[in-house]
Amino acid sequence: MQKKNYSDAELQGLRTGGIIKQKQKDYFILRTRIPGGYLKADILKKYSAIAKKYGRDYVHVSTRQGIEIPWIHIKNILKLLKDLKKSGILRGACGPRSRNLIACPGSSVCRFGFVDTEQLAQKLDRVAFGKNVPKKFKVAISGCLNSCAKPQENDLGFLAQGEPEVDLGKCIGCTLCAKVCEKVCGRGKREPAIVMDKNKRPVYRKENCFFEGDCIRVCPVNAWKLKKTGFAVYIGGKVGRFPKFGIKIADFIGEKDIPKIIKNTIHCYNRIAEKGERFVEALERQNLEEIKREIL
Ligand code: SF4
Ligand code: SF4
Ligand code: SF4
Repeated sequence: MQKKNYSDAELQGLRTGGIIKQKQKDYFILRTRIPGGYLKADILKKYSAIAKKYGRDYVHVSTRQGIEIPWIHIKNILKLLKDLKKSGILRGACGPRSRNLIACPGSSVCRFGFVDTEQLAQKLDRVAFGKNVPKKFKVAISGCLNSCAKPQENDLGFLAQGEPEVDLGKCIGCTLCAKVCEKVCGRGKREPAIVMDKNKRPVYRKENCFFEGDCIRVCPVNAWKLKKTGFAVYIGGKVGRFPKFGIKIADFIGEKDIPKIIKNTIHCYNRIAEKGERFVEALERQNLEEIKREIL
């Protein structure tokens, strides 16, 4: 056994903070996390150094926006943890805890994005990560309906929405917005949210809209613009052995309300679930309207 020159908190962290036993005797995987998938290039270099020094000169990039470094020998773990502290690399979680919050790149670089989801994920990391729960708890944020971060497959998911509005004074009657809208709504099996009237002016029907913004992108004279943005909220999604698609419980939630919703959902999960149960399994025994009120 190694000499104990580390605090109890550090040793406890070994078991709970992303050090996973490998199938090969005496070897462990270091699981790290990258909130929102946003990683500075300098930190990336640190990963390389750690993988060379303690692993076998390669990493595994996980589906949860983490980097895992396998082949850490048990005798090197405490030394590795010391190096990690100085590196800026964040340790992940395993066991009954909330996991890394994932996000798509969002509006910082993506032309479809309504929200800078990558930066939002950085802000929410403290609220969402590492909380004790009955099994595991995953949060994802996507910047538009394309759902690249798959929020509907997470225990709690946020999907950015944008409501369009048209300035008829600018419209030249080209009909492009109605055409693109017919396509979008047809794929979503709805009547179009934009139809042209007899004067070749677009009429917007909000009840059919998917809030994804193609009309804004397609208009040649910028007659369509964003009226408001917000997030649809999904709960109870998961993959694994018995996948479930999340249930939508709200539309156009403001960014400032997200921390509260994350906290409330984790609290709700802890309240209703047995040890070892995923959120959706416990949700199935509940009255959804009451759960919605509790979370929102
Ligand atoms: S979900 Fe939308 S905003 Fe995010 S990366 Fe995909 S297309 Fe871009
Ligand atoms: S956002 Fe999409 S669905 Fe809504 S009106 Fe525009 S094109 Fe149609
Ligand atoms: S795309 Fe723009 S210009 Fe063309 S009909 Fe629609 S609002 Fe008018």
